[in-house]
Amino acid sequence: MLALRYTTQLLLDRSAPAPTPGPGEALIRTRRAGIASSDLAVSRGLVPFSGILGHEFAGVVERLHPEASKDDRKRWEGKRVAGSINIICGQCDLCRKGLSTHCRARKVLGLYEKDGCFAELFTLPLRNLCEIPPKVHDDQAVFAEPLAAAIHAAQMIRAEGKPYITILGDGVSGLLCAQIMARLNASVRLLGKHPEKFTLCEKWGIKHRHISEVGRRHDQDIVVDCTGSPEGLTLAQALVRPRGTIILKTTAAPVGSEETPNPHGVDLSPLVRDEVTLIGSRCGSIPDALAALASGAVDVLPLITRRAKLAEALEALRLAAAPDQIKVLLEP
Ligand SMILES: [Zn+2]
Repeated sequence: MLALRYTTQLLLDRSAPAPTPGPGEALIRTRRAGIASSDLAVSRGLVPFSGILGHEFAGVVERLHPEASKDDRKRWEGKRVAGSINIICGQCDLCRKGLSTHCRARKVLGLYEKDGCFAELFTLPLRNLCEIPPKVHDDQAVFAEPLAAAIHAAQMIRAEGKPYITILGDGVSGLLCAQIMARLNASVRLLGKHPEKFTLCEKWGIKHRHISEVGRRHDQDIVVDCTGSPEGLTLAQALVRPRGTIILKTTAAPVGSEETPNPHGVDLSPLVRDEVTLIGSRCGSIPDALAALASGAVDVLPLITRRAKLAEALEALRLAAAPDQIKVLLEP
């Protein structure tokens, strides 16, 4: 089968062996896959991963393990699915405490120890899967993973007394967070760099400003950093009020990486001085994301700026890195 693989460099593998589902797993045929900033980080050697890339998907369950129960077969085979990217053991102390997304033996689809969805076929445990509701198109369901993360970030916020929330960054993560948080009882604005993305904010009725135009007055109750760069946290510290909260969603660019040189690291002393709460936020619930899509609460289709065939994945990854792109989708 066709698969986009990274070992020491990106390679379009035209004769990758099709995976076989293990016990408790499903073999899934990819219908849509989204290129994320973490995929670009893998392709640049910034994330220590070797294997088939890709973790944002909408797919169809092709078949289960030969020993799967009749009930499971009936439940899953032929169904359209999205899924959680964290493959967990279910047995370690963290899994038993309800912190399974932090499982000590965790593998992550297309990012850590598990081949991903930039392929014709891939596997995931059944317990990771969630059926896509009929009214949610594949083009929408492929956003389930980043949308789940945005919903999770919003769930970490206590929106009491109509707080001022600033979202930093106008990539997919920022644009999804802005839509979700605009539904809270809060005053939400997005700071970005790309005027074409402000048009989307206008459509959604969300305030927006160019990142260079804002005063750094320590007056925001909550700042959500979706910039993907170390500078985001520095700016967030200049915007947040004393005893305010910063939600850090940035993971893609390590401090001092080749991509975003920052040899001095991030000065965290403002966190102490202003007694700021810093909250890291990562993955959320796929069922919550699919429910939000089914209810029409989130507008994701305008985020698709380009489509490419899996056979053109190398070129698509190059394109996805351009600042005018929001979400580039791969299709079979
Ligand atoms: Zn575990």
